Amino acid sequence: MATKRDYYEVLGVQKGASDAEIKKAYRKLSKQYHPDINKEADAEEKFKEISEAYEILSDPQKRAAYDQYGHAGTDPNFGAGGAGGFGGAGGFGGGGGFGFEDIFESFFGGGGSRQADPKAPRQGADLQYSINLEFEEAIFGVEKDIKYNREETCHTCHGNGAKPGTEPEVCHKCHGSGSINVEHQTPLGRVMSRQTCDICHGTGKEIKDPCATCHGTGHEKRPHTVKVKVPAGVEDGQQMRLADQGEAGINGGPYGDLYVVFKVKESDIFDRDGGEIYYTLPLSFVQAALGDEINVPTVHGDVKLKVPAGTQTGSKFRLRGKGAPRLRGNSNGDQQVTVKIITPKNLNEKQQEALRAFAEASGQTVTEQRDESFFGKVKDAFGGKK
Ligand SMILES: [Zn+2]
Ligand SMILES: [Zn+2]
Repeated sequence: MATKRDYYEVLGVQKGASDAEIKKAYRKLSKQYHPDINKEADAEEKFKEISEAYEILSDPQKRAAYDQYGHAGTDPNFGAGGAGGFGGAGGFGGGGGFGFEDIFESFFGGGGSRQADPKAPRQGADLQYSINLEFEEAIFGVEKDIKYNREETCHTCHGNGAKPGTEPEVCHKCHGSGSINVEHQTPLGRVMSRQTCDICHGTGKEIKDPCATCHGTGHEKRPHTVKVKVPAGVEDGQQMRLADQGEAGINGGPYGDLYVVFKVKESDIFDRDGGEIYYTLPLSFVQAALGDEINVPTVHGDVKLKVPAGTQTGSKFRLRGKGAPRLRGNSNGDQQVTVKIITPKNLNEKQQEALRAFAEASGQTVTEQRDESFFGKVKDAFGGKK
């Protein structure tokens, strides 16, 4: 069937596009496909198509006729009188200047031809599945079996929908074409249009004796298990595509895909950004002042870290290779350690004395604080004292 593209589609605009939008689209496309500029084989044809679409859509009267009657409305024989030009029913094919075939094709060609062929094989739907991962599982990778229901090819009829021992037959109404001609009464008179066959729904096949398992659909919902190898180093929100693990295709088309989305649990100890792991190391001011050797937890086990004397709060240390694997490349990120100095609370008498002595040795005087003070009592009243 010779087809003519929809004028709006040709210009790439919406049906309700303004005159300005149409003009803009035409200018852009006509430049792009002008045969003087564009030397591609089909440029000239495209340019003609664009010019024709613009000629109609830029003229309010022609556009209105096109909106109402499609390409038939723009036929020169259509006449300025609109629908009247056709006369009454049965007005085609006589002296009108164009035969039944012409109107049939131009009138419905655009719409019908753009519809997907219902008999064509189509890929099944994609599915999505979320996997919950522990913080460490995301870092080191893990294998998980996931189970979900999906449409599969019916195991009884192997997808043809017919009861075993029988076969689908050629549809008696459309004779296998999947579509039928339907007569309409329109302002233009009686017109034939092509519609999807209501018996076979476009498949061209009729199942007289449907399969008991799938009731003729050829598909059945079944539980499906997939082994997922979660790669080391995945992050929260990342997804992985598993080909063919989605739903069964239509008309023998391939299965859809499965998208697995990783939901990674947070750690109480670490923060993570890609390969980098962040850890806050609490130190007493004595350790920080005198220096110390400390066991620092990492996801790879404890690591000894030498903290030099005079370390300040906020100081950073880097434990090379102690982070998470980088998804691209074979190396690990680092663990960054940030020092946080903890001021001691609730010192006993002996500790207080030692600190006063320390202050004195440093040439400082510290005013003694007593809980009997006004502020101490207020703090007690609010439960501030521990
Ligand atoms: Zn049919
Ligand atoms: Zn079946």
